[in-house]
Amino acid sequence: MLADWLTPVRAALDAREQAIEIFFRDDDAGWDDDRLYALLDCFRDCNVPIDLAVIPDALSPSLAGSLLGRWRRNPFLLGLHQHGYSHNNHENQGRKCEFGISRSEEQQFKDLLVGKQQLECLFGSALDRIFTPPWNRCSQATADSLLKLGFQALSRNRSAAPLHIGTLQEIPVAIDWCGIRIKSAQPWLALGQAVADVLYPEYPAPLGIMLHHAVMGVDDLEHLQALLQLLREHPTTHCRLMREFLCEPKAVDAPASAFPLEPQAVLTAMQSYLLTKPL
Ligand SMILES: [Zn+2]
Repeated sequence: MLADWLTPVRAALDAREQAIEIFFRDDDAGWDDDRLYALLDCFRDCNVPIDLAVIPDALSPSLAGSLLGRWRRNPFLLGLHQHGYSHNNHENQGRKCEFGISRSEEQQFKDLLVGKQQLECLFGSALDRIFTPPWNRCSQATADSLLKLGFQALSRNRSAAPLHIGTLQEIPVAIDWCGIRIKSAQPWLALGQAVADVLYPEYPAPLGIMLHHAVMGVDDLEHLQALLQLLREHPTTHCRLMREFLCEPKAVDAPASAFPLEPQAVLTAMQSYLLTKPL
């Protein structure tokens, strides 16, 4: 059964004439550490890289230390970037959003800045200047703030509404692993077909697959491992980290802040830093 669901994926890869680059983005690092470690072990054992979207306000010192240790052991297998600030929904109606239209640019900027500083304190140069908004949704004010803060890329759904992003790059995901699995009566066949569908016809951009470790069980990991082994072994595929798609591989210095830094923000960031010394 494990092999059956991959039949359409293998056929789609075999039919491709051009190589395809694939990345995996796991969201909500900071929640359910045990499941996160199980997912990271799965990728490590398959020798496939994974990017983690980390919630600054949910990141404990112990998790930060563990992630940094993994990054130091092999920086080519792990990417770390910012996922919102607190992952709270701020919209009173409509779809959930932390960085939605009901929040001003100043409010968004402050949250982005504090989150960025907390992660920088804990991860240092291991942190990529990439931003994934919770629920894959954000507004124009988010993009404007990200530019001011020196971010290099924004990662949302492939179908997200266009924004004016200036020099910001987009690195979108196309497959929602858990969303597809939850909605289907035959989850693995549905997932295999969904992956195959984006491989036909010649998919032009890097293929992003989104994971949510906090709702992934043993069954997910077994199927994921089979997919990773196929992708690693197939000559058409190259599994990458998101930072490998950035035009400028090394981040430039962020411009000066447009808003004054709250003393509490500095205090929180310093507390996080001091709690984790020595890493
Ligand atoms: Zn999330």
